[in-house]
Amino acid sequence: MPSLQDPVTAVRGVGPKLAEQLATLEIETVEDLLTYFPARYDEMTPTNVQFAKDKQKLAVKGTVMSEPIISRYGYRRSRVAFRLLTGMDVVQVTFFNQPYLAKNITANMDVIVTGTWDAPRQTIKGTKVITKDLDQQSGMGAVYSVNKHIKQATLQKTIRQAFTQYERFIPTLLPVKLRQDYQLMERREMIAQLHFPTDRELAQAARRTAAYEEFFLFELRMLALRQANREADGLSIQYHNDEVRAFIKTIPFELTNAQKRVVNEICRDLKAPYQMNRLLQGDVGSGKTIVAAIAIYAAITAGYQVALMAPTEILATQHAQKLAKVFAETPVNVGLLTGGVKPKAAEQLRAQIAAGQINLIVGTHALIQDKVEYANLGLAIIDEQHRFGVKQRQTLREKGNHPDVLAMTATPIPRTIAITTYGEMDVSIIDELPAGRQPIQTQWLQAKQLETAVRFLKEQLATGAQVYIVSPLIEESESLDVQNATALAEEYAEIFAPTYQVGLLHGRMTNDEKAAVMDQFQAGDIQVLVSTTVIEVGVDNPNATVMMIYNADRFGLAQLHQLRGRVGRGQRQSYCLLLADPKTDDGKARMETMVATTDGFVVAQRDLELRGSGDVLGKRQSGMPAFKVGDPVADLKMLQIARRDASELLANPAWENTDEYQPLALYLHRHQLATHFD
Ligand code: ADP
Ligand code: MG
Repeated sequence: MPSLQDPVTAVRGVGPKLAEQLATLEIETVEDLLTYFPARYDEMTPTNVQFAKDKQKLAVKGTVMSEPIISRYGYRRSRVAFRLLTGMDVVQVTFFNQPYLAKNITANMDVIVTGTWDAPRQTIKGTKVITKDLDQQSGMGAVYSVNKHIKQATLQKTIRQAFTQYERFIPTLLPVKLRQDYQLMERREMIAQLHFPTDRELAQAARRTAAYEEFFLFELRMLALRQANREADGLSIQYHNDEVRAFIKTIPFELTNAQKRVVNEICRDLKAPYQMNRLLQGDVGSGKTIVAAIAIYAAITAGYQVALMAPTEILATQHAQKLAKVFAETPVNVGLLTGGVKPKAAEQLRAQIAAGQINLIVGTHALIQDKVEYANLGLAIIDEQHRFGVKQRQTLREKGNHPDVLAMTATPIPRTIAITTYGEMDVSIIDELPAGRQPIQTQWLQAKQLETAVRFLKEQLATGAQVYIVSPLIEESESLDVQNATALAEEYAEIFAPTYQVGLLHGRMTNDEKAAVMDQFQAGDIQVLVSTTVIEVGVDNPNATVMMIYNADRFGLAQLHQLRGRVGRGQRQSYCLLLADPKTDDGKARMETMVATTDGFVVAQRDLELRGSGDVLGKRQSGMPAFKVGDPVADLKMLQIARRDASELLANPAWENTDEYQPLALYLHRHQLATHFD
């Protein structure tokens, strides 16, 4: 029996060549094809030419007044022309290079013509003429997003053919009860209305159905995955409560309430017999590191090893140094394993890890190489998790005896979205900054105000502050970035000589060079650090209180927020200077947002509004799922409802045995193992 899982070549007219073209749009099965929904609809509602502007795209309904005339010029070029009575107006209609139209159009015929209005000539330059079922036309022409490999018309035709062939074999996935409650369509009708709308309201209802279905299936998969994880064997880490408490007492500051809450959430998971899979979200500077330290300590009191993986050597090194300090008076011994460690030393380190002599291993992705064997890995922590691919995270999850996993991120995602779209993870959020933090004062200056900025830097340096200067970002040219940063560092070395020392940091330096500069900056031997964006993540020097960013409008909001987060980490008032002459409204809006707020969640929300969720959440590398129809921001309420419905369905283990649920159960089995992120 034909099934939607058939390859596209099962559709009449689709040969190997077209299949290849379709594959470039990630269309491989009939189902992919049928759910490749239009990106937009061309407006085809008939309008009155009297109100049309020159060059406007429009659709006009009328009666053909004259037999079409074909003129041909040269090889393959032609024009079909006729007069059209529309309302009280007579206009000229011309079609270029579609001579076959002449055969289908005759005088006195009622038609809809779509095209571009040429006002001076009172002419419609036609793109399409509709001769049938004029009253059933919805006025919406489906337009698909295509690429250079495939033509719009080819895709339209192929989808039409696939639908004709498979219409009878489209099972409805959504349970009857939900469809009734929300007045959703059968899947067959939904697909028909989205591709070939006959009516505006039906098309709208179809979109609603598709969005809900997409959310529901997504949440069902996430929740099923989570359930499966919970049922699989994990470690139950019996940490020593008293020792953990005693350790917390040694921390030189009081934990914020938010920190206390997430520590409890994490500890509960450690103790539970399932594999922890938790995402810790907290704005830059909210104090995730100390939370991680407590979790590390807890796992170690239970006799386990802990691995902490960071995306860059700088960050890994910094973590190792800080944690070594934090754990100085404890039995925790820290090892640093990065690509930069010399082979001999690395080999020795691995031997110590395998023998269980080191219980906290900090490093980069070197930690997940096959060569690394852990004696007793109980907890794996991933810092700045969005910098890692799905594979790397999964590899860590599968190391040793399936350790508990804590993923940390400073990329703020509005709370509701985080909870609903990271459906297979539990989410902890630190939504409070340590007391006494003064909000960073942000100023936006034009390039010509550079002198004012430099004067300000000098004043600040005179008070003992340290300064970051981020050099202009030049897309796709690392060598230009490096040249720029180097030139800028020389410039500032002159400006600040002889009182202040200027250091340089960029991506082409060796790890040793980078580490040396960072050390000097941390120690205060360098007061000004000129850098490309390599300092973006995680670097922590509380004495650095001024951040100046060149061409700030070239950065996205999330990145600017990350950069700004390098300052404002201590008690002193911090400042961020944005040098920018934005050319676009978007660029201006970004600068204004940065000036107006330091709250990462507000910045993230604004980022969503400016870019649309497709861009913010759609990026594969960000580890967030992309939805085809639904918009997790605009349709958030629906997403939450779908999650609740999916959860209710799964709560009854017998659901799969009912006939009605067979298509849904089949769907879930097909997709359960592949997560949404693959
Ligand atoms: P992030 O969440 O960006 O990783 P960090 O963990 O690096 O933030 O913390 C930022 C700074 O705030 C560090 O210097 C840290 O010691 C300090 N800090 C963390 N928690 C508190 C707290 N509860 N009170 C005061 N300072 C804190
Ligand atoms: Mg951090």
